[in-house]
Amino acid sequence: MNFIAVIILCAVFADFLLHMTADVFNLRMLKSQLPDQFKGWYDVHRYASSQKYLRDNTRFEWLTATVNLVLFLGLWFGRGFPIIDQWVRLLSDSPVVIGILYLGVLFLLKSIIALPFSIYSTFYIEERYGFNKTTWKIFISDRCKQFILAVFIGGILLSGVLAFFEYAGPHAWFYCWVAIVVFMIVMQFVVPTWIMPLFNKFKPLDHGELKSAILAYADSIDFSLNNVFIMDGSKRSGKTNAFFTGFGRHKRIVLYDTLVKNHTTDELVAILAHEMGHYKKKHVLWMLLTGILQTGIMLFLLSFFISSPMLFDAFYIQTPSVHAGLVFFGILFAPIDFFMGILMQYFSRKNEYAADRFAVKTTRDSVSFVSALKKLAVHNLSNLMSHPLYVVLNYSHPPIIERLEAIEKVDF
Ligand SMILES: [Zn+2]
Repeated sequence: MNFIAVIILCAVFADFLLHMTADVFNLRMLKSQLPDQFKGWYDVHRYASSQKYLRDNTRFEWLTATVNLVLFLGLWFGRGFPIIDQWVRLLSDSPVVIGILYLGVLFLLKSIIALPFSIYSTFYIEERYGFNKTTWKIFISDRCKQFILAVFIGGILLSGVLAFFEYAGPHAWFYCWVAIVVFMIVMQFVVPTWIMPLFNKFKPLDHGELKSAILAYADSIDFSLNNVFIMDGSKRSGKTNAFFTGFGRHKRIVLYDTLVKNHTTDELVAILAHEMGHYKKKHVLWMLLTGILQTGIMLFLLSFFISSPMLFDAFYIQTPSVHAGLVFFGILFAPIDFFMGILMQYFSRKNEYAADRFAVKTTRDSVSFVSALKKLAVHNLSNLMSHPLYVVLNYSHPPIIERLEAIEKVDF
């Protein structure tokens, strides 16, 4: 076993143990006593149920992580990577076609392994807590659509990356970067207009009290808004949510039908004020730019490792190739990705506080926003007591209690 293999193995185990430890700490935080802020919001049974939901999900994550770890090590040390490589080489002479087949087989394996976990999570865990609304028909059609999209979009993107690294010489990483950035920007428009409607129906919000209230608020903060949609989220889950996509004239706000059903007009305006705050404070743009920078760093590093004999040796491959290099670099890059992810989540949590402040200041109404957040937490059985290590590793949003405390301090 060479040096790179040892590093990868240590990183894989360190990551596994760190997440397990954070989970254990997180479960130890669970207390039967309800936090003061939620007195009158949670009844005893629902609060107990939220803790059981966290326990069930944590155990399920342990099972998933353990199975994935064992299978990855099995594939690695059972010489799975070279076996698949030799097999796909029999099917074509073109390095790009071989590369797509190789990555395609790995993708297929990953999807097959993920399937029973996804079934268990949807039809057992989510079902037990009354969230699941997905029928088998929807589940199967979702998987088929996702698979076709992954093959189609992934295929186009991968053939580009493989061809650049195969034929474009030492600056291939840069051409790849430009191509991927163009792709990322195009996807900002393609995803909401073409892809999301494949999975959900988006109905423009009808004229009425809610629409007038939203438009009046948007007007008050100089936010040009033509598109407010209601999405049939209830098709799959009883959980509530709202989100924001797009730029410029194409920006749109989407409310889940489940959210509209559960909240008052003032609460909905407060939630949207938070979403518009992300846009006004340029968080959406910054996220896209950091994504672009991150991709550039990754591709630049990739260009150093993609022909490193040690990397191929670590996975028992004798004939170096771009496609295998991509996979192995992806595995080697995981620790850097881990730290970049933690940093991104840290900034994301800061942005959430900023969007909260924006919402309270511009609506001049902290009461509606606080009640909206509390309702969301109770309805979605969110964990109220997260351990700080767990937050650092997993949370893109601050824990709800800390968010509520920060909102109390905003003066408007
Ligand atoms: Zn937010």
